[in-house]
Amino acid sequence: MDTIINTVETIQIDQQVIRRAGEIIRQGGLVAFPTETVYGLGADALQPQAAKKIYAAKGRPSDNPLIIHVAQWPAVERIARRVPESARLLAEKFWPGPLTMILPKAECVPYETTGGLDTAAVRMPDHPVALALIAAAGGYVAAPSANVSGRPSPTRAEHVKEDLEGRIDMILDGGPVGIGLESTIVDLSGEIPMILRPGAISQEMLAQVIGKVEMDQGLLEEHTDLRPKAPGMKYRHYAPKAKLIVVDGQSEQVIEKINALVAQMEPSKAGIICTEETLNQYPHGVVKSLGTREDEESIARNLYNILREFDQSEVEVIYSEAFQTPKMGQAIMNRLLKAAGHQKMIL
Ligand code: AMP
Ligand code: MG
Repeated sequence: MDTIINTVETIQIDQQVIRRAGEIIRQGGLVAFPTETVYGLGADALQPQAAKKIYAAKGRPSDNPLIIHVAQWPAVERIARRVPESARLLAEKFWPGPLTMILPKAECVPYETTGGLDTAAVRMPDHPVALALIAAAGGYVAAPSANVSGRPSPTRAEHVKEDLEGRIDMILDGGPVGIGLESTIVDLSGEIPMILRPGAISQEMLAQVIGKVEMDQGLLEEHTDLRPKAPGMKYRHYAPKAKLIVVDGQSEQVIEKINALVAQMEPSKAGIICTEETLNQYPHGVVKSLGTREDEESIARNLYNILREFDQSEVEVIYSEAFQTPKMGQAIMNRLLKAAGHQKMIL
């Protein structure tokens, strides 16, 4: 299959391109598009055969449900059997934005989209191209990240091209994304709201709007024996080709330890992930900075791109500093540790 690639300026959206992309989705095809979190791979969420194509293109396990992207509130009432007050409040505060809510699904949502579950995940992305596409596609776009399963999520159209060219109908290139990590997922289908995946909207921000919010214990580092509740979180994910090890502790000790480990290797085979603050303290190895610790958003935004850059090199082991930053730290560390298969050294 030939993949059509179209650039879309976010400030002046080419309506003709959007109409064509919408038409592809209505006819059961696949279109990758930018959102504020990562690039998504969209299909009509209400067509079982279309949803199935997403799994095939990505090589995604069929029990890993898809997030349904909507462009307006009434769409939520159509795909959810019941909409709790908490969902309304959170949508009012955080939508469009990087928050996905799990709700009991209505009958019109096929099990192909929900990975066999009786709940559906729904989100309204904060990106003009995404919103225009969803409207043009009929209002219900199932879209997981537009990467091959197991690879780091795409934060640029080139990443999508690398993974999916020839397997999907179209890529809308809207430039690099703003956030760079997937949305926060909160489950509102049970009694107490529970975070199933940390993201840019923190537990604290949610609690300020709806009161008590729990964190899925299966996500926490100390409970690697527990299974995460979101089916997708149990898979090894975001993984670079090289072996990745996170080194956590006081900055000077971390630098010393990483330098000692790298000294035992051929410099071109050793990768280091750090920040501007420590960049010139690593004399050997392939050193890449995620940005400054003063701007944790930049760390989140660059993480997947840097992991993909290492895939282009001959690096065999990557040592990464830890990033327990105040707001995004939970989300960043969750992705980094998953990429590392939970390999972490604590100093
Ligand atoms: P992705 O869009 O690639 O970020 O993946 C979607 C994530 O949402 C995966 O981790 C899924 O397991 C999770 N998810 C989607 N729908 C549900 C649901 N109904 N219940 C729990 N988790 C869900
Ligand atoms: Mg994904």
